[in-house]
Amino acid sequence: MAAQVMDGKAFAAQIRVQVAEHVARVQEQDHIVPGLAVVLVGEDPASQVYVRSKGKQTLEVGMNSFEHKLDADTSQIDLLALIGKLNADPSVHGILVQLPLPNHLDEDLVINSIAPEKDVDGFHISNVGLLGTGQKSMVPCTPLGCLMMMRAHHGSLSGLNAVVIGRSNIVGKPMAQLLLGESCTVTIAHSRTKDLQDVVARADIVVAAVGRAQMVPGDWIKPGATVVDVGINRIEKPEGGTRLVGDVDYDSCAAVAGAITPVPGGVGPMTIACLLANTLTACCRSNGIDEPQGLTA
Ligand code: NDP
Repeated sequence: MAAQVMDGKAFAAQIRVQVAEHVARVQEQDHIVPGLAVVLVGEDPASQVYVRSKGKQTLEVGMNSFEHKLDADTSQIDLLALIGKLNADPSVHGILVQLPLPNHLDEDLVINSIAPEKDVDGFHISNVGLLGTGQKSMVPCTPLGCLMMMRAHHGSLSGLNAVVIGRSNIVGKPMAQLLLGESCTVTIAHSRTKDLQDVVARADIVVAAVGRAQMVPGDWIKPGATVVDVGINRIEKPEGGTRLVGDVDYDSCAAVAGAITPVPGGVGPMTIACLLANTLTACCRSNGIDEPQGLTA
């Protein structure tokens, strides 16, 4: 039987509606408009596209969007000064510094200068620690989006064997923490993992976050497993031009999996929807008002 396709685009649209409704209530009852500040340093074309899309969607759900575009040679002191101002600004509830930063800037230092309660990317060391110890935190958007799709498909994830391929700080590790929080039995695989095929074949849930086009073939997948593909890779088409593919070979995996996310249209749209949800959550927490339900871990 063909796998159920987990439609991230449609799911993300539902989340945006839920966020917009809650934003309208907060505005009417508490006279607060949640605000997201996005800081972009330099002119990386992919980052510019992401930042534009984030700003547009922020406005569409009724929140304020503050964009700060800085020159590629901006000094660390100037960037930290801007973050300090945004930390102190009560109209800003979420701060996102678009990564990667130019090489002369210390990414860890910059991220850790964001007030943890405004760290809507969930990358601040305090949020990493809170997530790791099972406490309320700001949760990184991409793994949060993956978790929401898995919860919607499975209901309870308790007791399932989950394999996360990739151990980055922004996807693999927080994804594994979230699945552990759902009482999955979690394996984290990476470039040194031996017999990856055997590891994947035992999994009820496979999350691929590697950045290698179509590296997981269908014959690695346990029949009926759930496959969540985080990868975004551009490959040449035989007829010319390029197309986007994930880290799993979609057609062969979809033939055996129980459920699968497509690329594009799977995890990608969920990431920005979760950013909006995190900004609303941050606003509600900082003002002591009710958080939206079901939009965080
Ligand atoms: P990183 O490059 O930071 O991490 C990649 C991970 O994959 C590393 O842990 C690496 O292992 C592991 N890896 C590399 N080769 C292999 C291999 N042959 N077998 C097993 N593991 C391997 O990537 P990110 O986590 O930042 O991103 C992963 C993918 O997800 C990328 O395609 C990225 O574009 C995409 N992405 C998509 C998002 C979305 O919104 N959809 C958001 C963020 C990322 P090791 O640690 O040993 O080097």
